[in-house]
Amino acid sequence: MPITLKSPNEIRQMREVGRIVVATLRALREVAAPGVTTLELDRIAYETVSRLGGQPAFLGYRGFPGSICASINEEVVHGIPSATRILREGDIVSLDFGAVARGLYADSAITVGVGAINLDAQRLLDVTQEALRQGINRVRVGGRLTDIGAAIEDYVLVQGFSVVREYVGHGIGRAMHEEPQIPNYGPPGKGPVLRPGMVLAIEPMVNLGTWQTKVCPDKWTVVTADGSLSAHFEHTVAVSSGGPQVLTLPED
Ligand code: MG
Ligand code: MG
Repeated sequence: MPITLKSPNEIRQMREVGRIVVATLRALREVAAPGVTTLELDRIAYETVSRLGGQPAFLGYRGFPGSICASINEEVVHGIPSATRILREGDIVSLDFGAVARGLYADSAITVGVGAINLDAQRLLDVTQEALRQGINRVRVGGRLTDIGAAIEDYVLVQGFSVVREYVGHGIGRAMHEEPQIPNYGPPGKGPVLRPGMVLAIEPMVNLGTWQTKVCPDKWTVVTADGSLSAHFEHTVAVSSGGPQVLTLPED
């Protein structure tokens, strides 16, 4: 499958979808508090995206039962919203959400602390968010795809954490997952040359312990193999001659 290029008009529309994703994640962040279940978060996401004129992209994707992925503590990604998963003080929860409107997708993730969190957890969130920023900074016309992951990995390793290798970012546009795959590790200077109109969902997953993961018996939830905390941040980013355009940033 070739990498598809998006027209300026498509990118404008994807930015509109990005606004819906940002508003939904903001609503989730505001209610993520001790005592709230991940199923309640899922319901709020569904209501928010519907009110804003989009549809949840994950719902029904390969049979996934939720509108969001909600992954608590050692859960890395793909946590299934559940009435029995109750957020507790000190947890960190990754909230991953994609939306589609008029046939175009946007995808973003944040990890938030529930109430007061400890210093290790806070540092993990800060490092993962900064790693995403470092990766986005390498998005430039004429650059190479693996420059992104190399920058992410370099930054994370220096901070003493590890980067998940089994799950990667992806192109996005008329489908949620398009070519190319975007690893968050590896040497720079390889892979496709970045061209205007490519749109990339860049999404580092960073573990406090080792990088290895395993899949739970529910066949969706991915957890760290050593049970250590994991964090995840994601933005949808268009390659343009003016530099990276993040399509899932809050207005402010
Ligand atoms: Mg996502
Ligand atoms: Mg994604």
